[in-house]
Amino acid sequence: MSTDSDTASVRNRNDFSSKTRELIAKKSGYICAFPDCGWLTIAGSDSRSSEITDIGVAAHITAAAPGGPRYDSIISSEERSSERNGIWLCQNHAKHVDDNEKEYTADTLRRWKTQHEASIFHRVKTGEELAPYGITRVSFKNVGAFKEEYSFRLGQHNILLGGNESGKTTICQIIASFSGTVHWNKFNERFHFIERAATYPYIEVSRRTRTKADSVRLTAVPTEEEENSASARLHVEVNSLPSMGWSKTLVRVLHLNEQFYKRSGDLNDAWPECVAYLAEVLDTPEDLMWDSIRQEFFQTSTFGFKFKRTSHRELEIKVPKNNRDFYLPQALISGGESTLAFLEIVLKVIQLHSDDYWLLIIDSGFFVKLDVRNQEALFDTLRQASDVNVQTIFCLHAEKDANALKDANQSSWVNAQHFGKLTLHSFL
Ligand SMILES: [Zn+2]
Repeated sequence: MSTDSDTASVRNRNDFSSKTRELIAKKSGYICAFPDCGWLTIAGSDSRSSEITDIGVAAHITAAAPGGPRYDSIISSEERSSERNGIWLCQNHAKHVDDNEKEYTADTLRRWKTQHEASIFHRVKTGEELAPYGITRVSFKNVGAFKEEYSFRLGQHNILLGGNESGKTTICQIIASFSGTVHWNKFNERFHFIERAATYPYIEVSRRTRTKADSVRLTAVPTEEEENSASARLHVEVNSLPSMGWSKTLVRVLHLNEQFYKRSGDLNDAWPECVAYLAEVLDTPEDLMWDSIRQEFFQTSTFGFKFKRTSHRELEIKVPKNNRDFYLPQALISGGESTLAFLEIVLKVIQLHSDDYWLLIIDSGFFVKLDVRNQEALFDTLRQASDVNVQTIFCLHAEKDANALKDANQSSWVNAQHFGKLTLHSFL
């Protein structure tokens, strides 16, 4: 037995004092430190004399008495009853952890405590964010044309406005890189992030889900492992603590840019490339991805497109509201229609993975293929989609288009930030 709710009458027990218990709880924000639990453990009470409902447990990392879970005979009584030996858990997880002491070792519990307390500290430090969930903050230095230090907050929906070569795609790639593999590789290939370690470039994001908040900072650091051979490595910090890696799936990113248009506009090439990208992001075999683009999945759809598989990697698509009540091969519908049709598939993918937090980046290379009416419809649709956890960044060249979108959504507009040659409009 290691919990503080046990009777204190047993001899030789090193229980926490009520002051220590309170300290453990407060450092944890009264939130269970079991990974991904996030249970808030304190509230008012309508009947207890303390006026408090308290469903938390200051659990001993190593037991308060011999025979208890994870008991450590080496440490002193003072250490055993000190704040450092306590982790704040909800009642369920306190019991679960003690019932499975082989799986949850003292080292594991210590790691959780450190990470959870750092995460709470970070939430308090950064205060209110514009976006409740997703990527809430971005900072960087010495990446591409951005030599100075920049930092900005993201809203739930965002318009990033700037002319050609103003760095919109750079910003998008910085953010996307935190989702790992395909995006990280593209980012590193383009900016030679690690190779340029001599300038100590760094990128950092804060991310928040319903149960978790963290910040991840990646710095390229020069090292000299052998004589005269300078090399570089990536230094990772999670919540300001050095870390072996970071959670790539805390926010999933789809970065739609020029997938449709970079190959001489041939849509027969573009569709396989777009589907391959989705498969890569979802870590799904490509054929499985193609298999999922079938009529029955699109009974309900956002824009009203219908899809029919004709052969191995070919589709026929029915375009809505076009007085065309028939399917056409993928290569025969227009670029604008293809863009929306592909977004239809993207939104379905997001819907099917609605337990995840998604950041959908619609870069200017993609967005400009839509006319203003469709741009507005898309922005509106995503802003009002309540069935999915989706955060968005729309990149725009033209101030008039951005202003049109902003005016049409004035009631949810919250903020404009300027950095470099860019303006970022944020929306609720
Ligand atoms: Zn819990």
